[in-house]
Amino acid sequence: MKAAYLFQNDFRIQNNELVANALAEAISESSGESIELDFTIVKPKNFDLVDELGFPMWSNAKKKVFFQALLFLSKEIHMLNLNFYFFNDLIEFNNYLKHRNIEFLFVAASPFSYENEYKSIISSNIKIVSQVNNLLIEPDNLNFLFDSFTSFTKFKKAVEKSQWPIKASRSSDLSLNQFKADALNPNIKASEILLESSNLVSTQITSDLKSAIKRVLDWSQENLKDLKNIEVAFDLKGDRESALTHLQTYVWDKKHIKHYKQTRNGMIEFYDSSKFSMWLAWGVLSPVEIFQEILAFEDKYEPNSSTYWLKLELLWRDYFKWMADNCGDLLFMPRGLSEEYTEPEMNSFNKKLFINWCEGKTKNSFINANMIELKTSGFISNRGRQNVASYLVHELNLSWLWGAKWFESQLIDFDPASNYGNWQYISGVGGWGDHKFDYDWQSQTYDPDQKYQKIWL
Ligand code: FAD
Repeated sequence: MKAAYLFQNDFRIQNNELVANALAEAISESSGESIELDFTIVKPKNFDLVDELGFPMWSNAKKKVFFQALLFLSKEIHMLNLNFYFFNDLIEFNNYLKHRNIEFLFVAASPFSYENEYKSIISSNIKIVSQVNNLLIEPDNLNFLFDSFTSFTKFKKAVEKSQWPIKASRSSDLSLNQFKADALNPNIKASEILLESSNLVSTQITSDLKSAIKRVLDWSQENLKDLKNIEVAFDLKGDRESALTHLQTYVWDKKHIKHYKQTRNGMIEFYDSSKFSMWLAWGVLSPVEIFQEILAFEDKYEPNSSTYWLKLELLWRDYFKWMADNCGDLLFMPRGLSEEYTEPEMNSFNKKLFINWCEGKTKNSFINANMIELKTSGFISNRGRQNVASYLVHELNLSWLWGAKWFESQLIDFDPASNYGNWQYISGVGGWGDHKFDYDWQSQTYDPDQKYQKIWL
């Protein structure tokens, strides 16, 4: 079996069910001489593009954590003695698939067309093995019909009634151990692309492919050099080692989980909230891994309202993913899930308002502090996100979609379902009713002595 695994946003090999399946297949099919599995990634299409609204679609902070995650992943894959290739676009990727005679392509399932574009390009002979691998709740274990109009409360009740049927992900550890053992066996060498050996492809493709294939390790290292001075919130690092260290510290060493409910609305301190979102968004951590730590903590000490609340927040994440699964690309449309919506015009007046909002130059200092933090660090608190989103939509009367796109470009924890879902939730186009905030009240309650504003203004 010749197989490729395509990473989209599930950047981990441990506790990744699809990776486990790919490795298990590769082992069982291996001829004893070579293990025919490559890991691959295609550069995201909008990586170097400028949005039609005029800003780069990937901020440098976002790029930095992305490369940190990839660099670590590529070192792990390297230790398995396997290849991890990077392609500039789907055409290069397709050439590689053809050249290498790939028969199976493993790739996480996604409801969005931009993550399914590979399907329209690759040959129909390639068997795609796909599954959802970033949810907390196992869809099959929930006896409940989710539709676009399911409220979070209904969803939560169904989950609680079914006693939290957590996705018992098949651990990839077993396959990984087997792989590590094989990697040490001198008779088994990792797959290598012998470009010259194939007579199936034209010389043109072969030479294109030679120049196209790059190892992720080199690509990440080169880019990280250029990004070394870029500031990232709390000096967060995208790699899995940092993620696991943080999980251990947050839950066990410092036990911040015990008072999550009391601190989660804080806007300044690192441990005010869990800060798991960035690693979850890139798939560096799985929600199941976090959930299992919460359960273990509850077992060792005792469940309290904070441990429960953190589970609920992880459930919000699932909720938006289920919703996205239901509505697909409607999530990115101005009208969202609404029957009708007239998007505000992008005239020069509105454009100025929008740019001022992005730059933190509105008439409201609480909003400005948040927007400056976002632009400077790639992160803001949930409280901040809700307020600035409400302000853009309900105060400036601008399109929620522009705000969502700005967030997408800036957030180091950008996640399509959570971002566009929350924006629709706040603006009301998702059919939830408007969520308009009272900014003065919010500022007095959550930043009473303006400490937060003083930091960022
Ligand atoms: P915690 O409070 O510690 O929560 C734990 C985890 O629960 C988070 O890491 C996250 O995975 C999940 N979670 C918490 N609140 C929500 C929520 N409202 N919706 C979905 N999941 C949630 N979150 C993202 O991960 N990516 C985004 O792109 C994103 N965009 C947002 C845009 C807007 C307009 C709003 C209002 C919220 C957005 N959120 C997004 C949700 C939320 O603000 C962040 O998940 C949270 O602030 C991240 O910090 P934390 O990990 O410390 O959260």
